[in-house]
Amino acid sequence: MDIRLASETAVTPEELHAAQYFHGHKCPAMPQGLRAGHLAMDILGVERARGGGELIAVVETGYHHFSGCFADGVQFATGCTTGKGNLERNPLGKFALTLLEPASGRAVRVVPKAERMAQCLNMDFFKLRAQGVPPWKLDPAVVDPLIEDVLTRPWQEIFDVETFEHYPYPRQPEVFEAVRCDECGELVVTSYATRIEERWYCRPCLDRRLHAGR
Ligand SMILES: [Zn+2]
Ligand SMILES: [Zn+2]
Repeated sequence: MDIRLASETAVTPEELHAAQYFHGHKCPAMPQGLRAGHLAMDILGVERARGGGELIAVVETGYHHFSGCFADGVQFATGCTTGKGNLERNPLGKFALTLLEPASGRAVRVVPKAERMAQCLNMDFFKLRAQGVPPWKLDPAVVDPLIEDVLTRPWQEIFDVETFEHYPYPRQPEVFEAVRCDECGELVVTSYATRIEERWYCRPCLDRRLHAGR
């Protein structure tokens, strides 16, 4: 795809340090997420998300696998976070970010290049990680060049990019109502509660009731 950018927003040293503090260690995958997030925002021409509705980021990393740290870089760069609900996970065990702007329907999918990711797995950093060495115990000499590389190489060598003009995304209104479950007494957001015979049930209590066969 032929995408021309007037300029790409660089990850500043300040942003990198703040993101590393948030993330907890130095690794190449988190900065790759920072760069992917900025690239996606640059291509869409949008600002970092402040609320929950203007941008949605969908990351395809799963759980308990290498380079999952990518998702934290995406959160830090785009402002799409799990708490605000504008970061969604589609856990496919892949490494793509899709950033979409619900108001316009435009979206961009940024995918780290497969050849490069496969090469990375043969580098010392990933070999040591696979042997169980935690990232914070690794020699900076092993990690720093990888971070430098992922932040400075032309983006066309790192990412494949695809844009969409009409990306389907059902907009969900934010719910500001909650009820107390009549079984356990805990508060539950109304859209997660079920009402049966004049009683409210949270999901675990509903499951118990249904499985008890009452
Ligand atoms: Zn990491
Ligand atoms: Zn309950």
